[in-house]
Amino acid sequence: MDVLSQGKAAVFNEPIGPRGVIVEERERTSVRTGQVAVAIRSAALNHLDLWLISGAQRVQPPRVLGADGAGVVAESGTQRWKPGDEVVIYPVSCCWQCDACRAGKQVLCPQFGILGEHTEGTACELLHVPAQNVYPKPAALSWDEAAAFPLTFLTAWRMIVTRARLRAGETMLVVGAGAGVAAAAIAIGRYLGARILATSRSETKRRRAMELGAEATFDSSGFSKPVREASGGGVDVVFEHVGPATLDESLRSIRRGGRIVFCGSTTGVKAELNMPRLFFGQTDLLGSTMGNAGEFAEVLKAINDGMRPQVDSAFPLQEVVAALERLDQAEQFGKVTLQVSR
Ligand SMILES: [Zn+2]
Repeated sequence: MDVLSQGKAAVFNEPIGPRGVIVEERERTSVRTGQVAVAIRSAALNHLDLWLISGAQRVQPPRVLGADGAGVVAESGTQRWKPGDEVVIYPVSCCWQCDACRAGKQVLCPQFGILGEHTEGTACELLHVPAQNVYPKPAALSWDEAAAFPLTFLTAWRMIVTRARLRAGETMLVVGAGAGVAAAAIAIGRYLGARILATSRSETKRRRAMELGAEATFDSSGFSKPVREASGGGVDVVFEHVGPATLDESLRSIRRGGRIVFCGSTTGVKAELNMPRLFFGQTDLLGSTMGNAGEFAEVLKAINDGMRPQVDSAFPLQEVVAALERLDQAEQFGKVTLQVSR
């Protein structure tokens, strides 16, 4: 897929962390047929950007950062959009033509990727993307909020709704509640009418999780016992993105027939599993990454129904290094955004 990042852009230039990112001017061109040029108002950073700029994703610089963006259509190569339309970007890159894409299963496209990782990204003045990547911006959201939700809410929505099939009245444990995707999970769980429990090492983040609607929170060490007590014998679903450091406790936290769904493994790539616990417990272990266009449309509908993302802080595009350092300190709750043009 062809994604072009134009005008002023935050560019991963050297794999040395935040200071390897520079802001530079890129060539502007006319939009091609089937594409839309979006004047980005706000872009948002993800943990993915930190991995990328440290060299961990094996992406060769230069690469414009950012999966998340919202803005105004500046030029359109399609009937579907006209200049002035306010839009958000579906953060997946795919071919839009293969059997999987045409069946609405973009996550299974052989060319599946993420904006700002597998293609150029949203942290720029003018983003050219296929018309299929563009959706109407929810009117109630500010530009920073509109940039804050796409990747995390899409990821958490597919995990919770499509994969784990969480239902109203069920209980979900969100592990590592400070992460952007975990804050999205709490918001989605509450929207669905589920009971939410959460864990975090940080007392501040546990308090923020309660403010978002968690019913009880626990310290990250040895959380399974109090979780089983608080949930009357175990939760229905565990929302995981931490991996080896918490997986055993997560497994001990679910009831028989429960589900663990995970989208990441921030503490390492290999984990040890207690197999009898898994099979005697009738446990479903579900992997998930990003989400389909149809799932993105469902997230938009839930936002239009009142679900809200959390913005931690906003930096001007020029201060992208400071914004990445804020993310690197892991003290944020919610998204760190880049304000591009106003
Ligand atoms: Zn495809």
